[in-house]
Amino acid sequence: DFSSEVSALETALHQSMAEEGPVPVVAVVGRPNVGKSTLVNRIIGRRQAVVEDKPGVTRDRVPYDAQWSGRRFTVVDTGGWEPDARDRAAAIAAQAEIAVQTADVVIFVVDAMVGATDVDEKAVRMLRRSHKPVILVANKADNQNIENDTVSLWSLGLGEPFPLSALHGRNAGDLLDKILAAMPPAPAIIENAPRGPRRVALVGRPNVGKSSLLNRLAREERAVVDSVAGTTVDPVDSLVEMDGEVWQFVDTAGLRKRVNQASGTEYYASLRTAGAVEAAEVGVVLLDASEVISEQDQRVLTQVVEAGRALVIAFNKWDLVDADRRIFLDKEIDRELKRIPWAIKVNISAKTGRAVDKLAPALRKALDSWEKRIPTGTLNQWLTALTQATPHPVRGGRAPRIMFATQAGVAPPRFVLFTTGPLDAGYQRFIERKLREEFGFEGSPIEVSVKPRK
Ligand code: GDP
Ligand code: GDP
Repeated sequence: DFSSEVSALETALHQSMAEEGPVPVVAVVGRPNVGKSTLVNRIIGRRQAVVEDKPGVTRDRVPYDAQWSGRRFTVVDTGGWEPDARDRAAAIAAQAEIAVQTADVVIFVVDAMVGATDVDEKAVRMLRRSHKPVILVANKADNQNIENDTVSLWSLGLGEPFPLSALHGRNAGDLLDKILAAMPPAPAIIENAPRGPRRVALVGRPNVGKSSLLNRLAREERAVVDSVAGTTVDPVDSLVEMDGEVWQFVDTAGLRKRVNQASGTEYYASLRTAGAVEAAEVGVVLLDASEVISEQDQRVLTQVVEAGRALVIAFNKWDLVDADRRIFLDKEIDRELKRIPWAIKVNISAKTGRAVDKLAPALRKALDSWEKRIPTGTLNQWLTALTQATPHPVRGGRAPRIMFATQAGVAPPRFVLFTTGPLDAGYQRFIERKLREEFGFEGSPIEVSVKPRK
């Protein structure tokens, strides 16, 4: 029963890895009360969390994101390993063993003040079988005297004991260096990595003002650039500089040439939109603010949302909107755009140039949300508090529990909830809503899926 919880953990780890190449996993194992959680808190750089001074205290075991010297890794805090334990404690021991099997590096923690115990020796046999690199940490070496005594731990046969005080941070930096050295090559964190221009799909039904806007942008925000160093741009795309940045408007050949608007059926228009949206990272859906939001407008919006792209809605022809129309429009927006309250909205006029400069900041904000990553620890702390305050309603005497969550990917953000059973649709929507309330994601769709334990 508990082991399926463990395999869910395993799946979560691999999912988060799939996104950006393998992020090495470091498992922290050892008897109860040797200071594993204290060490994990030290590694992830959080201020001392509350740890109960009681053997076998079970806390939620989740993977945490960590980084050191510009390298990312995942650290897994495991429950106390007790070889002959029964019931829940046995399950925790099994969990630790699986964590070892899935890890790239194992930190085996012993209590320097206690020295090696029988249980530690049994753990060593289990670690040997795993053939994983093991770092033997002699924790609670708070001072030089205790540190000197740690030589006796050579007897465990795991090489040189590494003296540490997880509580006070003594030797913690050196330990992190040692952990990195034992890891397989990890992806480096590249800040401000050079990349091509952001790709924008400018879409909307005929006559909303797409060509007018593109022409306005090309004229006002400096001429359309033909080439940008290091990028290859499809000839059907337009490069436009807005707000000091070059943006790639995809598949705009038709707009630039102002081809006969009447040509082509709506079916072809929709195919064309789909292609542009697919090629883009963010969609600007242009609506004609002087007219009612039509079904055709809705279809274009749906195309962007279903493709999982960031979304900015631009209400064009704002110069035609008077006070009366404004009131109607507000009501329409409430009614017609209820399903996408998170879309970023700007009110512009391609004709007069009104607020066209708001477009670039809106696009940036939407793209930031689209690529946002919530650290696993932060996500789970928030979720634990939320589900404690508002648990899943009880159905037939039982309520499914969310064990933990992980962000499986970005662009758009995708979350997976690992649960003990299926969630009510209403409760899942509640989690989604709260997720947005807490973390934002303005301008981006997000996906939340549930993996019930089998
Ligand atoms: P775990 O059960 O292995 O996760 O152990 P905890 O992290 O919960 O720690 C158990 C107890 O040992 C707590 O009271 C910690 O404050 C204490 N502890 C952890 N690290 C150190 C250390 O380096 N020195 C000392 N003196 N106590 C420590
Ligand atoms: P497209 O089919 O979406 O590319 O739309 P066009 O750019 O061809 O514009 C359709 C019509 O709307 C043209 O007559 C434009 O002059 C007009 N138009 C576009 N933008 C605006 C605007 O902001 N205000 C007003 N009043 N008219 C606009």
